[in-house]
Amino acid sequence: MGFQVFGLPVSRGIAIGRAVLVSSSRVDVAHYFVDPARVEAEIDRLRSARDEVAQELGTLQKELPPDAPHELSALLDVHLMLLHDETLTGATKQWIRERHYNAEWALSAQLEVLARQFDEMDDEYLRERKADLEQVVERLLRVLARDAGAPDSGVPVVGARDFAGEDPLVLVASDIAPADLLQFKRSVFTGFVTDVGGRTSHTAIVARSMDIPAVVGAREASRLIRQDDWVVIDGDAGVVIVNPSAIVLEEYRFRQRQSELERARLSRLRHTPAVTLDGQHVELLANIELPGDAAAALEAGAVGIGLFRSEFLFLNREGDLPGEEEQYLAYREAVEAMRGLPVTIRTVDVGADKSLDRMSLHELRHEHTLNPALGLRAIRWSLSEPDMFRQQLRAILRASAHGKVRMLVPMLAHVGEIRQTVEALQRAKSELERAGHPYTDVEVGAMIEVPAAALMLPVFLRHFDFVSIGTNDLIQYTLAIDRADEAVAHLYDPWHPAVLRLVAETIAQAQRAGRGVSVCGEMAGDPAFTDLLLGVGLRSFSMHPSQLPAVKQRVLRADTRRLAERVGAVLTSEDPQAASVTQFAVVAAHAPAPGPATVL
Ligand code: PEP
Ligand code: MG
Repeated sequence: MGFQVFGLPVSRGIAIGRAVLVSSSRVDVAHYFVDPARVEAEIDRLRSARDEVAQELGTLQKELPPDAPHELSALLDVHLMLLHDETLTGATKQWIRERHYNAEWALSAQLEVLARQFDEMDDEYLRERKADLEQVVERLLRVLARDAGAPDSGVPVVGARDFAGEDPLVLVASDIAPADLLQFKRSVFTGFVTDVGGRTSHTAIVARSMDIPAVVGAREASRLIRQDDWVVIDGDAGVVIVNPSAIVLEEYRFRQRQSELERARLSRLRHTPAVTLDGQHVELLANIELPGDAAAALEAGAVGIGLFRSEFLFLNREGDLPGEEEQYLAYREAVEAMRGLPVTIRTVDVGADKSLDRMSLHELRHEHTLNPALGLRAIRWSLSEPDMFRQQLRAILRASAHGKVRMLVPMLAHVGEIRQTVEALQRAKSELERAGHPYTDVEVGAMIEVPAAALMLPVFLRHFDFVSIGTNDLIQYTLAIDRADEAVAHLYDPWHPAVLRLVAETIAQAQRAGRGVSVCGEMAGDPAFTDLLLGVGLRSFSMHPSQLPAVKQRVLRADTRRLAERVGAVLTSEDPQAASVTQFAVVAAHAPAPGPATVL
């Protein structure tokens, strides 16, 4: 029987596929398809792993000291029995044979199925055997990891989907950390659903950058959806439909085709300059997470990178952090890929919902933080790790020898932090000069993402070349709403008059001071805000490449003089969202018909 689950829409479009349930602790298990010709070899891999684990358990059994409690030996017997049980190994082989999942993926898929069956058992003793099963699977996964058979050391492989030639897959998980989601960037999944998370949580942001339909904050989704269920993810409405009827499925397939057509139409705007009807040039930049994303930015027609979230280079690491050389090469790769267009590299912004690898010393500090969103995050962390910060600054400066680099500093609130940052940068420059490393002039900007920064903007404008408004955090800190917490997601309101006033004032003041100003939070990529932001004078927007065509379409249809006349009424309204609909609809009605370049 079909049912629906409601969550928050975070990445648009419709995905239809079979559910793959991944528990948080197993997100880092390799997920890839094996070539049909290698299916039997993969089953052999599983068989050898099973034999090895059986041997391990047998040895443990033999080496038990004579005075060991009897329960220990009985427990090992249970583990051996589970290991050889057909419901584990037989069914796992079936996932490999029929779905072409790699052994690790097949094993965790089958564990999800069996774990549910255990959960539903009435007998408490039997229910508790779930923990034993998990331990046996952990042992198998450990052995398999030793002889990783993944063609690309465990990274999910997109092209391999063709091997399977079967149903598309969607990922269902209770929670996925942004770092883990990043592993799925080149993945086999066409959409995903999580139980937790807010609209601008970093997991949602990575989903948007992957440009796959996603719903977060769907509460019970991972409990209600079963492995292999048919699932429709409506990323526009935030609805997940499980095992839909044929007629509902057909309706969604139709909408999916419509949305693909719409995308194809919009993509034709790629080379059209973003100029409003009244001749205002608007800069549309891209947000990226990794250097490889620069290609998508160019493809979407971005005229530069407005936000390179460098912290993604720091995630998914085995306990170390990227050093100067590694970072320099990564920044250089992005800079060269952009062929002379500006690349704005933000200094590392870890903390809050982007924590470093579990093994890292640094994260241990975060773990003890009571409220990570208010803790040692972003520039605060950088200043507390001077050697790490020094290496990053040197790497960014060195990349400037290969193209136009700008640097952006996140989460500044205190003038003391500004001074320390400027001094650290100065020191890095002097060191590079002494060492003979070339670098060019790098413009330095501050992110305005805490209300304190917006309220003391003149100080920022004195010290920085430009400012970039991080609306995701500005909303979080203005309204005291954790952006990653689905329990308060309904109060996370980008239309709140206080937020809009801070944004509008920041733009106006920066412009009066002759400083560059852009918005790089999610608001910049949401076409619902384009008129308002143009009306308050914004001319530089930075967003996910996938959002760029829709925003460009709004720009091409805008008359900024008329928008400016009406924006006051929106900003002073108690309900700016409703006011913007009425005020800007009037502008649209009066705007002259768009020229040929804008007709779609
Ligand atoms: C923001 O806060 O708006 C922003 C762009 O930074 P991040 O989302 O990475 O915190
Ligand atoms: Mg931010």
